[in-house]
Amino acid sequence: MSFKLPELNYSYNALEPNFDARTMEIHYSKHHNGYANNLNAAIKGTDLENKSIKEILSSLDLNNSALRNNGGGYFNHCLFWEILSPKGGGIPNGEIFNEINKSFNSFENFKENFSKAAASRFGSGWAWLCINSNNRLEICSTANQDNPLMPGIGCEGIPILTLDVWEHAYYLNYQNRRPDYIKAFFNIINWEKVNELYISNT
Ligand code: MN
Repeated sequence: MSFKLPELNYSYNALEPNFDARTMEIHYSKHHNGYANNLNAAIKGTDLENKSIKEILSSLDLNNSALRNNGGGYFNHCLFWEILSPKGGGIPNGEIFNEINKSFNSFENFKENFSKAAASRFGSGWAWLCINSNNRLEICSTANQDNPLMPGIGCEGIPILTLDVWEHAYYLNYQNRRPDYIKAFFNIINWEKVNELYISNT
């Protein structure tokens, strides 16, 4: 079995003006595709070929850098595309809204904390909203292509929302203005999907 790129539920230009078409195209067809190809090469002929990406990452040896970088890169982008929508943004409905209020006091407070995690990640990485082992929501960030499924990463849980803060995700449109990119992200979050992920993982 080999890992394939997921189909996008929207076209490259559908997220404009928040995420521009050229960035989306390069990000998906070059960057994400590269991680998928390198992941497939890393697991070829091993027993990992029969495992799911979640299984591979949750039993990862952090010293295996090919698997760590490319398995992470493959999974992280799959989740990222899934939680974006041209009809997204705003304030969520449903259980995720109640749980955000419980965990962070208010949606505004959640937004501020998540934005801070994304803005303060030095260099390349990701910001996350996770379900922790106590079934509560938690915000954290990781470097490079690491993610909360990886054991011992210092940010553990089941990720249900994520933001890519690598420069390749925003530089064409936003250059050094990462805070503007983070603001734009909040206009296109697919909260229905995040709510679904929350419900199916608790
Ligand atoms: Mn990326």
